[in-house]
Amino acid sequence: SNSDFGLVGLAVMGQNLVLNVESRGFQVSVYNRTTSVTEEFVAAHPGKKLVGAKSLEEFVQSLASPRKIMIMVKAGGPVDAVIESLIPLLDKGDIIIDGGNSLYTDTERRDKWLGDLGFRFIGAGVSGGEEGARKGPSIMPGGPASTWDVMKPIFESISAKVDGEPCVTHIGPAGAGHYVKMIHNGIEYGDMQLICEAYNIFKAAGFDAEELAEVFTEWNEGDLESYLIQITSKIFAQKDPETKKALVDLILDTAGQKGTGKWTIMNAVENAVVISTINAAVEARILSSMKDQRVAASAKLEGPKPKIDEKKKKLVKKVHDALFASKIISYAQGLDLIAAMGKEKNWGLDLGKIAAIWRGGCIIRARFLNDITDAYRKDPELSNLMLAPYFTDLLNEFQENWREVVSLATLAGIPVPAFSASLGYYDSYRSAVLPANLLQAQRDFFGAHTYERTDRPRGEFFHTEWPEVIG
Ligand code: NDP
Repeated sequence: SNSDFGLVGLAVMGQNLVLNVESRGFQVSVYNRTTSVTEEFVAAHPGKKLVGAKSLEEFVQSLASPRKIMIMVKAGGPVDAVIESLIPLLDKGDIIIDGGNSLYTDTERRDKWLGDLGFRFIGAGVSGGEEGARKGPSIMPGGPASTWDVMKPIFESISAKVDGEPCVTHIGPAGAGHYVKMIHNGIEYGDMQLICEAYNIFKAAGFDAEELAEVFTEWNEGDLESYLIQITSKIFAQKDPETKKALVDLILDTAGQKGTGKWTIMNAVENAVVISTINAAVEARILSSMKDQRVAASAKLEGPKPKIDEKKKKLVKKVHDALFASKIISYAQGLDLIAAMGKEKNWGLDLGKIAAIWRGGCIIRARFLNDITDAYRKDPELSNLMLAPYFTDLLNEFQENWREVVSLATLAGIPVPAFSASLGYYDSYRSAVLPANLLQAQRDFFGAHTYERTDRPRGEFFHTEWPEVIG
């Protein structure tokens, strides 16, 4: 019984996390429901400090006390199933960490369940995919601070590092870590869709995959530098070995999704926070999946030819500005939601620290997260990212080109739902006057909801006897 760490669930994420933990000098015990997977994994890594267990009993007995067991199985029922089989084998004070993409409300339920039985529980979001898990992910753990203190050395050693700072921090109580991971995934949806819209515009302007690889490589050397821009440049450069054509042109245009984007939207509605860029991104995936309907409609519903006549170099700059501005909006919205939820739940979240641990390891890692981190370090009470002086200046600089790109695309019939949702949010947010006066009149007309007046103090409510409508 002397392994420092145990992991249940040897699929892609589990295997890579185990190798990561082991490479930092820890002995790791592993268990997988299907035993052959465990055996093959251990056999494939001779000479490493790995203990492969054929049963959960053997697995639990191989761990030093207090046991630290990370569960890395399919989210949902399987996590509960694993916890249930572990419970009779554990001692009070042992620590279970759920590192999968669990819904934060499930994490809250499991925290209470395990806490009542005397066990310690951490719900940790892990981002970075396979490579992140192996080399250093961004980790978002939630749970009691005292439990975090026990796990801190291992988590800090396996996480990505940026300027020497580990990309892991205690996010807050149970649920907070998985919650922040969920919003991270929503933001990831937004980033990906914005890049796809930029691509669609370039395509209409006649850029081929090779030129696009160049544009994205260049962007990755500037202020848009990020993992997603980088992999996009590599995608455009990838040839299909069989046809020698650009692979991207051969991939079917229907996207899938798992739960986290949908959960993010549902939570935003519950908190009355606008995340229109992320909404647009999730909806764009849904629309993409309706391939047959789109093909049928393309022969019936009219629109202009998707063609953009612009000098390529100039267009690259304009689309850069539109993309960057929209990205700022998306993060402003996502962080606004995290702040609202943190307040609602009394989680004591630190947005600066959250932005800081997203700078490395995870899918949304990007140079501009340094600037977001700075903005919150300078002003922890910042009401909206757009109002941090650095980002205000950028938006003021970009807004003209951003409008032009949305206009160009709209006139050419090219859908830019995330670019335009972001711009709509920007213009609404900066409008001292919105047409909701008419809305209030309508509400008062049919529902006697009353309204306030611009020429009277706030808090005084009026009702009008509107003319009767017949029929
Ligand atoms: P999967 O989500 O594909 O899960 C497969 C693993 O779950 C296998 O080890 C499987 O065991 C085990 N499992 C499934 N059902 C049960 C059950 N009832 N009892 C016991 N074990 C069960 O694996 P991934 O590695 O892709 O992901 C793990 C977690 O990490 C998920 O929550 C995922 O959402 C999250 N995640 C994944 C990322 C990725 O890039 N893949 C990135 C970040 C997070 P068996 O071999 O016996 O079938």
